[in-house]
Amino acid sequence: MRAEIIASGTELLLGEISDTNTSFIAGQLALLGIDLYYASIVGDNFERFAETLRQAMKRSDIVFITGGLGPTKGDITREVIAGVLGEKMEVDGELKQQIVGYFERMHLQMTENNLKQAALITSATGIPNPLGTAPGWWVEKAGKTIVCLPGPPAEMQPMWAREVFPRLEKKGGAIILSRNLKTWGLSEAAVDQLVSPFMGLPNPTLALYARPDGIRMRITAKADSREKALYLIQQRETELRDLLKEHIWGIDDETLETAVARLLMEKHLTIAVAESFTGGLLSYTLSSVAESARFFTGSIILPDRKALAYLEISPFVAGQTSIKSASFMASAVREKFGADLGVAIDGSIENAGEAVTCTAYIAIDMRNEANNVTGAYPGRPYLLVRRSAMHALFSLRAALLKA
Ligand code: ATP
Repeated sequence: MRAEIIASGTELLLGEISDTNTSFIAGQLALLGIDLYYASIVGDNFERFAETLRQAMKRSDIVFITGGLGPTKGDITREVIAGVLGEKMEVDGELKQQIVGYFERMHLQMTENNLKQAALITSATGIPNPLGTAPGWWVEKAGKTIVCLPGPPAEMQPMWAREVFPRLEKKGGAIILSRNLKTWGLSEAAVDQLVSPFMGLPNPTLALYARPDGIRMRITAKADSREKALYLIQQRETELRDLLKEHIWGIDDETLETAVARLLMEKHLTIAVAESFTGGLLSYTLSSVAESARFFTGSIILPDRKALAYLEISPFVAGQTSIKSASFMASAVREKFGADLGVAIDGSIENAGEAVTCTAYIAIDMRNEANNVTGAYPGRPYLLVRRSAMHALFSLRAALLKA
């Protein structure tokens, strides 16, 4: 099946907004194994839009159109499709009721031009849109399909997930399953190099994504049954685990904080936190886990060096940002809150022209056994703070696995 995307909207051509709908749909089509050959952007001009659609219908089997489904005169997608297919638009009673219902739920006044959004042509069926007034259109004619979706990504993406993806999956007759393996401690380039033998293979496919909690590897398999797709994923997962070993810390919905919390509870250990660089992010992340009161005894957020006095740390140690001061902080906070573990983060941001790098000093004191690590990350300041907190969680997980 050959697919094509048309993103409509003059503001896209003016550069006022970026066309993220096309990249979203392109990614989804890749998952579905549907070949995407062309993507265009058109403004709100009837003739040029109609010409683009005519050409798309000649060379592709399925055309996805986003935008232009609103109630105003500038929203011309329905009119263009009706014109190209030579069909007449008529208000559909059921769609009208859905739109009236939407306005009632939102306590908004409906205007006459909203009725245009309830229109259909004979070859189209409406695609429900519970998040907005514009229903989508699913059009089938002469062996070709046109799928029309609203422009706002917040409406388009849920409609895609609920209504369009399942229909396309059935069309293809295949089951597609994905699993994310989450890593820490390696750069995207390093992971890419390690897993290069598997990149570019058709089934399962492998894709890499950088996230604040590390590099993710997404394995996606396509098969004619769920069992076969799962088998393909499991085989590739085993191979990847052999390559990346302890760098893989979790899958799918697992988070570093839930992994740490689970280990703390299993081992009946408690933890206290001192943060002088991450502004409480580590404490917040740990305390947001359900049942955190079972293992989290307290934390201290130190805005500056003077605040180290709260932990009775001598001015000599407080004088510099270093792994040593983090180490003192970890022991002091552990004692202060009577916990089994103390973890501390200290850090500094270095500006070298445009480039910003942070060095985080992470210390873990587990019943007087020290475990210190240093991490340096380049990037934007808010990301650096998140990475430091994630690094602390990863180090905690590693220490707890050995405990
Ligand atoms: P509405 O019913 O809200 O008018 P619509 O289906 O008519 O929706 P448009 O009017 O074309 O859609 O676009 C509405 C908004 O949706 C745009 O202002 C923009 O914020 C967003 N949008 C539209 N197309 C895209 C796109 N291709 N990529 C990202 N955002 C888009």
